[in-house]
Amino acid sequence: MEPLEPSPAAPPMHDVARIEPRAASNALARRLRPLEGKEAGTLMVHEVYKSIQGESTFAGLPCVFVRLTACHLRCVYCDTAHAFKHGRAMALDAVLDEVEKLGGGLVELTGGEPLLQDEAHPLMAALADRGWTVLLETSGGVATDRVDPRVRIILDVKTPASGEVDANVWPNLDRLKPTDEVKFVLGDRPDFDWAVDVIRRHGLAARCPILMGAVFGRVDPTELAGWILESGLPIRLQVQLHKILWDPKARGV
Ligand code: SF4
Repeated sequence: MEPLEPSPAAPPMHDVARIEPRAASNALARRLRPLEGKEAGTLMVHEVYKSIQGESTFAGLPCVFVRLTACHLRCVYCDTAHAFKHGRAMALDAVLDEVEKLGGGLVELTGGEPLLQDEAHPLMAALADRGWTVLLETSGGVATDRVDPRVRIILDVKTPASGEVDANVWPNLDRLKPTDEVKFVLGDRPDFDWAVDVIRRHGLAARCPILMGAVFGRVDPTELAGWILESGLPIRLQVQLHKILWDPKARGV
C-alpha cells in the first residue's frame, strides 16, 4: 500500500475520503500501525475460517472468510474490533492454500477494511482465477476503482449514526455493477430516512441489490421491516445471521 505515515499535507492513502487535520491524522496513523513493516507481497491476516455467509444476497450459504487486519474507521457499532490490531503476515500463496483447505467455492474478503492492503487486489484476482465466487465486504471508505470486475463488492454506505458518514467515498456508488450490492446498517429512524434519500438520489434501486440491517440492539428489525414496506423500495432486510445462530460475541463464526 501507499506510505503509512500520514501528514496533513499528504494523506497517507490514496482515495480515502477524509483529509483530516493533524489530530485526526495522528489517530489514523495509530489505526494503520498494525500494517507498518509488513513486507510487500504479504497480507496481514486476522483469521481465515469457514462459516455461514450472513449479510448479503448470499446469506445462508457456506463461505470461507479471509479477515484482514486493521481499519481506518471506528463505527460506533463495530463488532469486529478484534481485527483492528492482531494478525499474522502471510504470503499470498499461503492464504490461497488455507482457503483451498477449507474448500474454496464462495470466498469473502472482509476485515477490518480489506482494501487498506494493496495485496488484497492480487489475492482477489487469484481467488477468482480459481473459479471461486469472490465477495468483498468493504466499508465504502476506500475507493473501489481497482477491484477486479469479477469480484462482487458488498459496499457499506456509512450512515450518520455510524459516526463515520464523512468517510464515504461517494464515487464508489457510481462504480457499482449489477453483481455488486450496497448495504446500509441503521442506528435509528433518521438513518433510514437518510438512506432512502441516498437510494433515490443515486438511483440505486435500478443498479444493484440494496441491503438494510439494524444495529444489533438499537433498532428493532420488525420495526425496520415496517419502514421498508412503507417506503415502496426494493430493499432487502438483512438480519445478522451469525448473531442469531451463535453467541453474538463469538468470533470466527
Ligand atoms: S468499517 Fe467495519 S471494521 Fe471498520 S470500524 Fe466500521 S464496522 Fe468496524
